[in-house]
Amino acid sequence: MDKHKRFIKMAGDKKLIIGNWKMNLNIGEASLFLHKLSKIVKTHRDVEVVLAPTTLALQPLSLQVNLKQFKLAAQNFYWRDSGTYTGEVSASQLRGIVQYALVGHSERRHVFNENDKDIRSKVAAAVRNGIRPVLCIGETAWEHASNETHDVLHDQLTGGLANITSEELEQVVIAYEPVWAISAGQDSKPVNVSPTDVISAIKAVRSQIEHLYGKKAAESIQVLYGGSVTSDSVADYLAISGVDGLLVGGASLNANTFNEILEKAHKGSKVAKKG
Ligand code: PEP
Repeated sequence: MDKHKRFIKMAGDKKLIIGNWKMNLNIGEASLFLHKLSKIVKTHRDVEVVLAPTTLALQPLSLQVNLKQFKLAAQNFYWRDSGTYTGEVSASQLRGIVQYALVGHSERRHVFNENDKDIRSKVAAAVRNGIRPVLCIGETAWEHASNETHDVLHDQLTGGLANITSEELEQVVIAYEPVWAISAGQDSKPVNVSPTDVISAIKAVRSQIEHLYGKKAAESIQVLYGGSVTSDSVADYLAISGVDGLLVGGASLNANTFNEILEKAHKGSKVAKKG
């Protein structure tokens, strides 16, 4: 098995926790924060921890990070590998710097008007460049209230994965993030999504993957939950069958809180293994 396939296989067996720092922390602050995290976060074989700082900090952090402790993710990139695209950064330029990349985060879809065509090109570009895309999908508050969640997930999955073969799907991670549950910043009140809603959405995701790629793919693909996760709610979300990890925004910017989330993910997976 080649090195990249082995990395994907090993990552697939762990709980995946991604900290999305969004447009917070400059290079110096991000470096200091990584230093602080590296002192307190214990490495557990059953938890893969990924940090997604600002694009600007990725290269220096890639030199500082211990890859056994943390992997790095890009929050965004352009899908072409090179060319006359002023201001953009490509997946090919991120090769060797990051192991993961978020694609189609709701802030990209709703603030920057990314559509399914942009998103499917990005998923393919990440895969082409040996970077695991984390395809973010989720319904808005209005779509939720109108009972359209499953239709939205169906369309975003079909649209986002349109260029991906069964073999390539092994590299892809899906993050279900109800847009209405994503916090508006560090001090905003967390929105707790009911387990029933999460279970139903995760089932819909796996059933659509089964429809597109078959049963084995539906069982093995990593599906994360994201939206206002805190150290108080982490265990509940991870206890939901079919949730393989978490995408954490606001709570990942506090070193102690993020560490608590990681420790609870580790404890949760020990309990799940025993049970
Ligand atoms: C996110 O950035 O994807 C996210 C889920 O943010 P938060 O945890 O702050 O809701």
